[in-house]
Amino acid sequence: MLAAKKKVAHPHFLWYSKLEWYVKRSFSGMAFLSFFLMIALSACNEAQLPTKTAIRKTMTKQHQSANPYYSRTDTTRLNLSDAVWKQVLSPAVYDVARHGSTEQAFTGKYWDYEGKGTYFCAACGNMLFRSDAKFASTCGWPSFFETVRPNSVLYRKDLSFGMERTEVVCGRCKAHLGHVFDDGPLPTGKRFCMNSIVLEFEPDKS
Ligand code: FE
Repeated sequence: MLAAKKKVAHPHFLWYSKLEWYVKRSFSGMAFLSFFLMIALSACNEAQLPTKTAIRKTMTKQHQSANPYYSRTDTTRLNLSDAVWKQVLSPAVYDVARHGSTEQAFTGKYWDYEGKGTYFCAACGNMLFRSDAKFASTCGWPSFFETVRPNSVLYRKDLSFGMERTEVVCGRCKAHLGHVFDDGPLPTGKRFCMNSIVLEFEPDKS
């Protein structure tokens, strides 16, 4: 049998293989660069998405501009008709603030929020709570152990649903905020169980 002829690459094929290798390497480089750019661009897009805090701020500003009775400095008590409140509040805030509805547990925007700052009444701007008095409660609603000032809120006896509870309303506009219970932590032992929808949070300026 004849020995198999040893294959020797033709010079032309060697030159062609080198070119092919360079082209392939260039393509790999371009593909890698494109992939890197795509990642970088998508990261930029993500960075432009509004944060939860930005959404809260926007909602607060929109709400305040539609409500001429809203003030964080005027402490004059408000005595407005239900029709006026319906006109100046959003339907969701009006429903809780003026008709005592309760938002579903674990759904409000502040029930597990831990930001440092101050909580105001969403209906009138009255200062209600400091974040220092907020504690992690398992009830599903934002809970505080004390108000900013003793007259920040007013209390009413609530006998609805066959229970005897103490209703908490805003000290300036009498908006329904929630209820207070005696099972809170020290130093007060109180648990102000509030509806997130009637609260507005303002972060501390660092
Ligand atoms: Fe109020």
